[in-house]
Amino acid sequence: MRRTAAFFLFLIGEIMKKRILIVSLSVTIVGILLLSFLFIDVCYRSAVDSAEKQLKTYMNFFDTSAPFTQDGADAFAAKLGESARVTYLSADGTVVADSGAEVAGESRDDRPEVIEAAENGSSYAVRRSSTLDRQMVYYCVRFATGTEGGVPEGAFVRIGVSLNSMTAYFIDMLPTLGWFLALDILCCLVFAWVATSAVLKPVENLAKEVAVSTGREIKTKYPELKPLAKLMNAMNADIGSKNEKLREDGRIEKLVLDSMEHGIVIFQSPAELILINKTAARLLGYEENEPLAIFAEDQEIAELLEAKESASLYRKFGDKDYNFRFTMGEPNVLLITDVTESMAAARSKNEFIANVTHEMNTPLTSIKGFAELIAAGAVPPERVQGMAKTIIKQSDRLANLIRSIINFSAIDSDELPDCEVNVSELIAELIGAFEPKLKKKEIALKLDVAKNVTVMSRRERLVEILNNLISNGIRYNKEGGTLEVILQGGERPRLTVRDTGVGISEEDKKRIFDRFYTVDKSHNGGGGGFGLGLAIVKKLCKRAGWRLEVDSVLGEGTAFTIEFCPDTEDKSV
Ligand code: ADP
Repeated sequence: MRRTAAFFLFLIGEIMKKRILIVSLSVTIVGILLLSFLFIDVCYRSAVDSAEKQLKTYMNFFDTSAPFTQDGADAFAAKLGESARVTYLSADGTVVADSGAEVAGESRDDRPEVIEAAENGSSYAVRRSSTLDRQMVYYCVRFATGTEGGVPEGAFVRIGVSLNSMTAYFIDMLPTLGWFLALDILCCLVFAWVATSAVLKPVENLAKEVAVSTGREIKTKYPELKPLAKLMNAMNADIGSKNEKLREDGRIEKLVLDSMEHGIVIFQSPAELILINKTAARLLGYEENEPLAIFAEDQEIAELLEAKESASLYRKFGDKDYNFRFTMGEPNVLLITDVTESMAAARSKNEFIANVTHEMNTPLTSIKGFAELIAAGAVPPERVQGMAKTIIKQSDRLANLIRSIINFSAIDSDELPDCEVNVSELIAELIGAFEPKLKKKEIALKLDVAKNVTVMSRRERLVEILNNLISNGIRYNKEGGTLEVILQGGERPRLTVRDTGVGISEEDKKRIFDRFYTVDKSHNGGGGGFGLGLAIVKKLCKRAGWRLEVDSVLGEGTAFTIEFCPDTEDKSV
């Protein structure tokens, strides 16, 4: 901007120099021409005036008694000198004699000097003589009284002298005029130079000042240019702040783009990148001023770019899945989105469906097989009851599976508000239902339950958790083992369900909370669960923000602990 302003000031100076020169030249040339015309006019008038005076003097020499003939006219003309033309005219205006031309007998009563002399006695006229084809000054006098042998009564005597025309005066003046013009141009050049120095110097100085004033205030000592300098400073400040804002906007834009978790590449062509943000640069291994390798090396992408087609495709970098969305246009845009989670969710959904189908298939096959055998009458009567019991058992298992799946799915959609639940009372209520199973495996139950321990939750959720942990503590316990249910109160209520069972290996500890994961696969279809119990417990704890821990030694026993308070340290499983 600064350079542009300086350049414009310089340009203005140059234009002004030319203008001053042209204007001063034009003014003086026009002036000289006008003066010349005035001068010529004055000279011409003065020449006419002196010619008239001369003619009047000439007329005084006219001898009225001299013969009024051609000889008389010639003699009078000779007396006056060569330049004079003497014409004698009769009272009716007919030429009697003329010293300048042979026009005797011709009428001149239409000539202005003759007409006026006939009226007033004498007259001057300046006009072009058609006879001599020259500019002439005439003086014509009418003699009212005649003389014997001389001028007849009423006759006219006209004397004429030739006069230079205006054009002739102008032509005469041309050399002088030429000199004047040459002198004038010289004067104009000098004047233009002086004027340029005097008038334009401030502008030139201002231009220099603008050119070197990087960011600082433009100053001028010339008062007439102070408003201009002030205006430029204001404009500079305005442009400066706008530039600063643009820079800031650009910086923020870059910051936003770079802090985006999505990758963005804007490009004119595969070899011509316009913009690439940090995420895209990191993912695609971008090196400055180099084209993106993936655009050429990935066959599918290269074909897409070649065809200039907008499309989406998926690529894997490390353990993450990315969606590459190409939008072709002017310019082209590539948006890279991390879709690891959504793809994992889709995979997990598919796995879930496959597991559910599998788990349902086992009891269903068994139910259908036995039912078909009974229907075909192929079973001896004594075995029918046993088969019916198996059918009931498998139906119960199927019902349990469906209930577990419903419970598992319901956790996400459960929007009911929490309320205070007395966990101590709930344990006392539930534990009775486990008596038969405990008795069957001769497991000793140790209850260490603090009174009136309450937590904010929902009864059915705590029932689900307690049922799963206690039934696992019995199911995976040894014959004659021990099951401890401990509930501690205080600010951080804790529930521990500890058994002296088979225990869980370190490797399995990581997976027992996954859906449909069972350590011993022989459980499936047998007396074991479906691998949904702990998944439900984990999901409920996570939703409530409780910490869930498992502590187990293989072959010695397992303890599950839930701390009913927000899991701030996030050490939970
Ligand atoms: P399941 O219905 O098979 O018991 P869970 O989700 O409740 O499913 O448990 C998953 C797996 O964790 C079980 O198959 C079992 O191998 C293991 N497990 C659960 N609780 C215990 C426990 N108290 N002692 C040993 N292993 C256990």
